[in-house]
Amino acid sequence: MIRGSTELVAIVGSPIAQVKSPENFNTWFASNGCDLAMLPIDLQETALEAFVGSLRGWQNLRGCVVTVPYKQALAARLDGLSARAAALGSVNVVRRHSDGRLLGDNVDGAGFLGAARKQGFQPAGKRALVIGCGGVGSAIAYALGEAGVRQIILSDPSAIRVGALCEVLGTAFPSLEIATHYRSLEAFDLVVNASPVGMGSTNELPLPAPMLTTLQPSTLVADVVTSPEITPLLQQARDRGCAVQTGPQMAFAQLGHLGAFMGVTPLEI
Ligand code: NAD
Repeated sequence: MIRGSTELVAIVGSPIAQVKSPENFNTWFASNGCDLAMLPIDLQETALEAFVGSLRGWQNLRGCVVTVPYKQALAARLDGLSARAAALGSVNVVRRHSDGRLLGDNVDGAGFLGAARKQGFQPAGKRALVIGCGGVGSAIAYALGEAGVRQIILSDPSAIRVGALCEVLGTAFPSLEIATHYRSLEAFDLVVNASPVGMGSTNELPLPAPMLTTLQPSTLVADVVTSPEITPLLQQARDRGCAVQTGPQMAFAQLGHLGAFMGVTPLEI
């Protein structure tokens, strides 16, 4: 129950009804006896500037999770950013300090990697294919670079997005091998779809179907799409004997990272 004493965290985006964080966080707060609650905020873009001002002055608010479409716009308005959020130019979580300062981080990649490690994936020295170089794909590629993968192949129909991510990764991780073309899936330890392809009931694949015949059973295949849980890519990977990682697994693995940054949960929950 929300009381006068309850401390708050928020999640801001638009639309917001589809997000799972409020039920996940509020369930965790209730079952751990915390006087804390998460509020969903569906914010109009024109109210963003005023919203940041409100965050600074909102004394019983510990922080705010940020989702589409405000990850970049909010990053540009905060008082400080983690190194990865600064490199990516986007935040998915903000911590409010008691003096009103707002600090941002981006834990999309850490959540992804946390879920992958639970599958037994050890990133150091590995080769990864990242399909989709938008907000989430960039965060995943950055986390893989931080964790010491040897090679990342990037794929996205937008040459501008591929180029921008190559530059970010090349600057942050000078010894990382970065390429933008692939002819087979054989050499990859990890294949991740970080694009929205496969969402809903379109039955689409994010790569050419014949290429799936080159997928090896030792490759971990991951998808960021949350609905359906088993996307066409994951189904085909399973059929070929691969371990798979779903979008909901990534989302769940992020909870501790988001909560710990706001200071409301431990890292491991
Ligand atoms: P975005 O719009 O920033 O990026 C999507 C990228 O995919 C774009 O660069 C686009 O050009 C690219 N793309 C489209 N079709 C492609 C194709 N056929 N092959 C390769 N790339 C292609 O979006 P985003 O914020 O990065 O989100 C991507 C997906 O991740 C969404 O479906 C979102 O719901 C999901 N998501 C999941 C989690 C989670 O925890 N599981 C968290 C955040 C977002």
